[in-house]
Amino acid sequence: MTADKAQALVLRATPFGETSAIVTLLTREAGKVRGLAKGAWRPKSKFDAALDLLSVCQVLVLRRSSGSLDLLTEAFLEHRFRVGHSQPAVAAGLYLAELLDAVTVDADPQPAMFELAARTVRMLSGPRPGHAAAGTDRTLTPPEVAVILLHTELGILQQIGQFPALDHCAECGSQLDTSRIAFGMLAGGGLCPRCRRGKRGVVSVSAAAVACLRQLSSSAFLDAARQPATLGEVRAVMNTFFTNLLGYRLKTSRWLSSTFTPRRETPR
Ligand SMILES: [Zn+2]
Repeated sequence: MTADKAQALVLRATPFGETSAIVTLLTREAGKVRGLAKGAWRPKSKFDAALDLLSVCQVLVLRRSSGSLDLLTEAFLEHRFRVGHSQPAVAAGLYLAELLDAVTVDADPQPAMFELAARTVRMLSGPRPGHAAAGTDRTLTPPEVAVILLHTELGILQQIGQFPALDHCAECGSQLDTSRIAFGMLAGGGLCPRCRRGKRGVVSVSAAAVACLRQLSSSAFLDAARQPATLGEVRAVMNTFFTNLLGYRLKTSRWLSSTFTPRRETPR
């Protein structure tokens, strides 16, 4: 039995017995790890808030022989996912946890993916972009939450080698028109008129949405929050893209609509 130290992000915790939990972690050092945390949900548990959803923590995992669950013996909180009453940020966090679980496999370390995810958790729960000073409003606007999440999703696609083709045809590599593009969900991005013929799963994407996708994959992604109208189309493209990639729709994706359509007061 070996003991491994790792920095981890909590993706899931399911009850086990009266007070224990089976915890799914994305670790920097060992990839995805599932372990039993004994007494995790006991009052005054030694794990405290370290095993809350999307907590970033330092863990000690006891590796057991094949066939039995690893044991999570220590977890020290580094950063807590804390978004107050921001419904969009909660929805984005739940979606991110489900997405990371879906695109990773056990024991396949992807440190860059871990970094990206941990940074997103900090951004979603940190001070509002551009208002980093202490004591200022900490609530992100719905479009800001939306662009942080979309930027992260594009980063994840990059990490798993599935970043969509935007400038060139995904099949033949020819330069694409700058107006609307035919986006092949199965082909993995834009298709030229010749390659799109007879293809299934092709949606027409506006030039504005393509430009927005480019911006979202750059370091200036927060600027994309200034065009909330385009973000709805980009969100729809991303939902369909991941659904095709994974073969099912992520359960939490429907809650994301709240990050794009802020609830309006209805007159009584
Ligand atoms: Zn082509």
